[in-house]
Amino acid sequence: AKWQKIDVENRSQDELYEMEQTFNEMIDYLKDNFEKQEIFVSDASHELKTPISIVKSYSQLLERRGIDNPALVKESIEAIDSEADRMQKLVEQMLSLAKNKQIAVMQQVDLVELSEETTNTFRSAYSRQVTFEKSTDSLVVNGNKDQLEQIIYILIDNALKYSKNEVNVKISENNNQVVFKVRDLGKGIPKEEQERIFERFYRMDKARSRDTGGTGLGLAIAKAITNEHRGDLSVTSKMGEGSTFTLRLPLVKES
Ligand code: ADP
Repeated sequence: AKWQKIDVENRSQDELYEMEQTFNEMIDYLKDNFEKQEIFVSDASHELKTPISIVKSYSQLLERRGIDNPALVKESIEAIDSEADRMQKLVEQMLSLAKNKQIAVMQQVDLVELSEETTNTFRSAYSRQVTFEKSTDSLVVNGNKDQLEQIIYILIDNALKYSKNEVNVKISENNNQVVFKVRDLGKGIPKEEQERIFERFYRMDKARSRDTGGTGLGLAIAKAITNEHRGDLSVTSKMGEGSTFTLRLPLVKES
């Protein structure tokens, strides 16, 4: 928007007061966003520092003691490779978060079809019990197919990562909304953590999450995409019983 010169003299006190309010709100909004960006950059750098220093120390180790030490060479190469994978994943996820802000191509997407396909892929890839239940054969939403698939992927992937038993995926419709649920029987998420897990880089158990390839960005990405789609993503969980993540999106039509 272009800045317009405001003719202050011909305005009433009320109008001026209102303008001042709007201006202050704008400044607060910009400040808030700027601070969030700063936090993101600082968290991202912090997350990248660990794999970089691991790679660095292994390469120095190789340089000093690599010759005639095949076991060390093997160990170092494996570690470097896995840290490179981690950095790649982090960068991809950070880009994905940045991209969500751009307008994605929207189309009509059948969420029953998409979620059934994604569930089947997981079932074969992990050889784990992943059940799928649908209330109807087709539920269409307006959205970006790749991004919606990403949400489904993140939720099922987490359910499998953080539990050992079967995972249930369920899709139905309620009040003109598509309701997509992923339930696990894992150890659960304490009440006080249930909001924080959607924050960028937040992990309940950093070490454990790192072992399973976790970055703490998955749910932040899922939440950002959901918001872009005017939907809602939430969790209910009971310690020792498991967690259920629920995605709600405006329904376009059902067949
Ligand atoms: P990560 O890459 O660490 O999995 P996410 O943003 O996807 O990052 O999740 C953030 C944190 O929330 C995880 O580190 C984990 O502690 C917790 N979490 C996510 N999904 C589940 C789940 N199904 N059961 C238990 N904890 C979960």
